[in-house]
Formats: sequence, structure tokens, C-alpha cells
Amino acid sequence: MKKFDCVIIGAGIAGMTAALYLQRANVSSVIIEKGAPGGILNFTSTVENYPGVPNINGVNLAMKVYEQIKQLDVPYLYGDVKEVKIEDQQKYVVTEKETIMAQTIIIASGRTPKELKLPNEEKLIGRGISWCAICDGYQYKNKKVGVVGSGNSAFEEALYLSNIASEVFLLYNTKKLKAEANLITKVQAKNNIKLIPDLQIKTLEETDDKLSAIILENEEKIILAGLFVFIGYQPLIYYLTNLPIKCEAGYLVVNEKMMTSVPGIYACGDVIKKDVYQLTTAVGEAAIAATFVKKQLDLR
Ligand SMILES: Cc1cc2nc3c(=O)[nH]c(=O)nc-3n(C[C@H](O)[C@H](O)[C@H](O)COP(=O)(O)OP(=O)(O)OC[C@H]3O[C@@H](n4cnc5c(N)ncnc54)[C@H](O)[C@@H]3O)c2cc1C
Repeated sequence: MKKFDCVIIGAGIAGMTAALYLQRANVSSVIIEKGAPGGILNFTSTVENYPGVPNINGVNLAMKVYEQIKQLDVPYLYGDVKEVKIEDQQKYVVTEKETIMAQTIIIASGRTPKELKLPNEEKLIGRGISWCAICDGYQYKNKKVGVVGSGNSAFEEALYLSNIASEVFLLYNTKKLKAEANLITKVQAKNNIKLIPDLQIKTLEETDDKLSAIILENEEKIILAGLFVFIGYQPLIYYLTNLPIKCEAGYLVVNEKMMTSVPGIYACGDVIKKDVYQLTTAVGEAAIAATFVKKQLDLR
């Protein structure tokens, strides 16, 4: 059975950054990834707020970090982690292919945005459909955009977009309306936000492989260039169900060392409970997690 001082689950920006720090600190570690390196970055058309890299395609940034860890010879395994278990105080990470012993674990498996479940939706991600107004909003300067969602995120992002886009159509469900009253008041006060309650999107229309309009269930057609979907995220921790690990709203709770409620298991990036879900925060948390993994291992 393979044995490592640290097993990192997920090769998004957080997992790869943690690997970079651990390898440079001479800690024997491995990354396990079930998809492409870079994780959700691979669905990001342009990153414009990463310091030192003014404008870069998400896939290219992911590849740059991947090349960096390859140059350092970080062991990298393709595998889908199915379970993390602790037996006789020993930690095990179980994939569909093998079981690996771990002194410590860094969970960096991210989260997945909930989708509208429309036929061509996946194809249009990064081509009109977005899950991040701070990241992609500027591409829609003076254009019409839509926002879908009933919670604080949707209302906050609609407000944010109303300062960039010419017009914002906010589609929300009044039965599930979770946005705070003050946000609703601010949204209602905006001249360029048009509220569309209780109408689902029936069709996403595309032109030249880009989103060009939406058709609602009442057959109304709205021409727009972007659609921001904020109907929630699902943290990817399905493989931890057998572990008594503290979660809040489905996200892992960590302390200032990025350690979860289970000693020796750390977490960073989009999988943790926090306020800001960005590349810069994921990278910072990964550096902290790796540093405290190293400190813990040094105490052995
Ligand atoms: C559309 C979009 C645009 C964005 N644009 C920007 C931007 O411009 N600037 C910015 O700062 N932030 C942006 N963000 C946010 C930023 O991309 C994320 O905060 C960051 O990439 C999260 O990194 P992560 O490593 O935590 O998670 P992820 O990138 O999600 O990586 C997690 C990895 O874990 C893997 N994994 C999951 N489960 C398992 C398992 N069981 N076994 C093995 N592997 C597993 C996944 O396959 C994935 O590769 C954007 C987000 C979105 C959705």
C-alpha cells in the first residue's frame, strides 16, 4: 500500500498550491484528482483579478500552475476519492483503484455550481453563462444580462452587475426568496434592474455558439449577452460521509490553521465555509494549510 505524509484531494488551484508548498518543504505528498488539473478554473474564460497576471484564460492559468508542480515532480494520481477513513488512528484515502495511507490530508475538492438543467447549458458555460459576476461581469459592460436566483448572492450580484451592464433582468422565485430585505429594497430602487418573479427559463438561445437570448415559460423572449446563475453550490465532500467532520451549510469548517474538526485533516479553497470564494483566497488558504501540515509532521 502506498503511504504519504500528506494526501491532497483535488488538483484545483488550492490543491496544486498546497502541493507546491509541501514539495518545496520536502514533505512526501501526492495529489489525487478525478478530472483535469485546474478544477473550476477550466470553466473560467478570463481571469482579470489575479495579481501579476493582468489577463489570462482560466485553462492557461491552470496549465501554468500544473507545469510548475510537474517541474517539482509532485506525485500526481488520477482517481476519484470515494472515502476517507480512520482506522486505529491511521488515515486512509480510498479511490476507485487503490487505498493510500496518509499521515495528514488536505481536502481541496472544491464545489460545483448548481445548474438550471437546460439542454445546452453546459456548452454555454464561459460563452454567456457564468457563475461569478465579480470575475466575468466586466465582459458585459453596457450589454443586457440576466441573473437567476432568490438568495443574497443573486441580489448582490444583480446590484453589482447593474453598475456595469445596461440592463439586468433578475429572475427569482418568490416562494424561495431568501435575499435580505435591505438587498431587495436596493434592487427595487435600481432603474436598470427589471424584476421577473416566478418565471422559469424554458430555452437558452445561442448565436455563433454564444448565448444570445432566453425564452421564458410564458414564451417571452429576452435578448441578452450574459446569464449569471446563482441557485447555489454543492461542496464536493460526498466521500466524507462516514467521518464525523464539522460542516456548516454543507461546507467544511476550518480553524485559522485550516484544520478541520478532525485532527490532521486540513481543508482549503472553495470546499470550506468562508465569505470570499476567489483564486487569491484559495491560494492563501492552501499555503496556510500546507505550512501547518509541515509543522504538524515536524512534531512527530
Ligand atoms: C465561472 C467562474 C469564474 C470565476 N472567475 C474567477 C476570477 O476571475 N477570479 C477569481 O479570483 N476567482 C474566480 N472564480 C473563483 C475561483 O475559480 C475559485 O474560487 C477557485 O478556482 C477554487 O479553487 P479550488 O481549488 O478550491 O476548487 P476547484 O477548482 O473546484 O478544484 C477542486 C478539484 O477537486 C477535484 N475533486 C473533487 N472531488 C474529487 C474527488 N472525490 N476525488 C478527486 N478529485 C476530486 C475536482 O475535480 C477539482 O479539479 C471563478 C469561479 C467560477 C465558477
